Parts: sequence; C-alpha cells; structure tokens
Amino acid sequence: MSFNDSPASRRQIMGGAATGLAAAALVTPAFAQGQDTAATPAPPENPVTRYPAPPFPEQVQEPPGLAGKMDPRPDHGETSYRGSGRLTGRKALITGGDSGIGRAAAIAYAREGADVAINYLPVEEPDAREVVELIRAEGRKAVALPGDIQDEAFCQQLVQDAVEQLGGLDILVNNAAKQVSQDSLLDLSTEQFDATFKTNVYAMFWITKAALPHLRPGSAIISTSSVNAYDPSENIVDYAMTKGAIMIFSKAMAKQLAPKGIRVNAVAPGPFWTPLQPSGGQPPDKLVSFGADTPMGRPGQPAELAGIYVLLASDEASYSTGQVFAAVGGRGGP
Ligand code: NAD
Ligand code: MG
Repeated sequence: MSFNDSPASRRQIMGGAATGLAAAALVTPAFAQGQDTAATPAPPENPVTRYPAPPFPEQVQEPPGLAGKMDPRPDHGETSYRGSGRLTGRKALITGGDSGIGRAAAIAYAREGADVAINYLPVEEPDAREVVELIRAEGRKAVALPGDIQDEAFCQQLVQDAVEQLGGLDILVNNAAKQVSQDSLLDLSTEQFDATFKTNVYAMFWITKAALPHLRPGSAIISTSSVNAYDPSENIVDYAMTKGAIMIFSKAMAKQLAPKGIRVNAVAPGPFWTPLQPSGGQPPDKLVSFGADTPMGRPGQPAELAGIYVLLASDEASYSTGQVFAAVGGRGGP
C-alpha cells in the first residue's frame, strides 16, 4: 500500500495489530486527555492525502470480518485521538464496538473520560480484545458483552448487563449492522432480508426500548445510518432500506424524547474502510476502487468520524436532536 504523503507515523498506524497495541500502550492517560501542553503545533493535514486511496489490494473475509485482517489496517484513532474531558464520568454502550466506526467511537469516548461497554459477535473476540485494552489504557472501565443482537432476549440482557456493570447508562450508540451485496433482487433471499432487518432495525428498536428506562436528562442516543438513506446503492437494497428506517426512527424518537431531555441523532457515513465491506458488503472487484467515486477520491477512515460521535454524545450539542450528521467525502448526504 502506498501513501501519498507517506509519513512514517501513518505507516505505523496502519500497520499490524501488534503495532497498534504497542502504540496504544504508549499512550498514557495524561497524553490522551490533552494535557500535553508543550506539544509542537501541527500544521493542518490535507484531507485528500491524509489516508490511503484506491486501488486497494483484493481481499475477502467471512462475515462479520476482522479489522485486524484488513489491508491496509483501518485507522480507528488508536494513536491519534486525543481527549479533553468532554465525556467525563459518562457511561456508554456501543453495539459493533469491536471494529470500524464503533471502535473509533469507543476509543474516543474512553479518551474523553467515559466508561464504555461494547457488544459484538463472539467470533470478533480478537478485535474486541484490542478495544478493551485501549479503553483500559485510559484508566476507564471496559465491559465486553459479546452476543447476537438478532435475538430480542439477548438485546434486553445486553442492556441489563451494560447498566449493571457500568453502573448506569448515558450514551447509547446503535451501530452494529449487516450488509450483504446482491446485484439482483432475484438473488435477495427472505432469509437475508430478515437477517438484515433484524440486525439493523429490530435490534435498534429492542435495545433502545430496553435502554430508555435507564436514561436520564442529558443522555444521548446516536444511531449509525448511512448515505444509503439518501442515495441508495443498487446492490444493497435491503441494507439501504434499513438505513432509511434508522434515520426516520431517530427523527421520530427525537421528538418523543426531547421533553425528557434525551437527544437522538443519526450519523450518515459515506464509504468507510471497515470490515463490513470486504466481508460481503461489497463485491471483491468493487472493493479495489472503494471510495474512488467520491470527490475526495478515497474512503473515510473510522477515526474521521470519532469527533462527530463525541460531539453528539456531549453537552456541547445540547440543542441538536433529530438531526443527521454526514461524513461522505463530498457526495450525497442529508
Ligand atoms: P464493522 O464491520 O466494523 O461494524 C459492524 C459491526 O456490526 C460488527 O463489528 C459486528 O460486531 C456488528 N454486528 C453485525 N451483526 C451482528 C449481530 N447479529 N449481533 C451483534 N453484532 C453484530 O463495520 P462499520 O462499517 O464500522 O459498521 C458500523 C456502522 O456503520 C454500521 O451501522 C454500518 O451500516 C454503518 N456504515 C458503514 C459504512 C461503511 O462504508 N463502512 C457506510 C455507512 C454506514
Ligand atoms: Mg467487527
């Protein structure tokens, strides 16, 4: 993989799992909390050349895929995100917190001072372990809650366990999703349609419903929608439908919960370099040019969404609810 600006540090960030963890271990809480006042000011980074651009190496994984097996490795902010106490003492539950966008949110929340519970599928334990270590390296509590959110009883248990082990809940991030590319509706089975809706829509409904009694004024719900809610791709019809549903759920719930002081927003990413894509989300030949059709000319990296998830969870966005925040590289979006 070549990098346009090829700084050595970027290569390390995108390097193997061991490198990421070793680097994470070096990040002391004081540094992560932004108290490193003696740091030399860095010039602004060119967003076009900041991260890898296509063509990418061909690669296929079994779903749900692992971030640790991607080439290049995604940047979830492991060595770059610096907190400044914006979520001190908050308690967050993030589904799909092992990898991709959910991992970026988990790392950022911990560095902003929050305790974090993550849900993921049991086969994703290697990715999840890395996230747990990163959260603990900040001196925050990390709670690992593996299990399949297609099951309503598990979703209820998940929230119960998160609340008990965190000692409460202030931030819910509905982020897990299933995405399986099918070129023709004729190849879209009822089983796939059902599984996509169970994972992306029903689970959000079950988990949010179970969480509501525990949320207090000032709490925030953030759900990951997609550019597909506005500009659906022809090969992921079922997935795009669920992303539209997530957006509308967020807008309706924002109205229902505003009088209680609970905000509900959605995030609409464009193409992001995460395990969702090489594990069935895109056909392998399309992954090679993933993100090339954006004005930015490259996919986003999960770290580039961390700030949005932090903002929406924090008191700084106290008048923002029922909104959709996009990061799409210049095309599509709300
Ligand atoms: P990802 O693969 O890193 O995260 C998705 C996670 O969903 C997995 O890590 C897995 O833990 C979880 N998951 C899937 N099925 C599950 C199940 N049955 N039970 C429990 N957990 C399950 O990929 P990502 O791209 O970071 O995805 C996060 C969110 O971002 C998703 O909602 C996705 O739709 C959305 N999104 C991604 C992109 C993109 O291009 N990557 C674009 C727009 C929106
Ligand atoms: Mg994962």
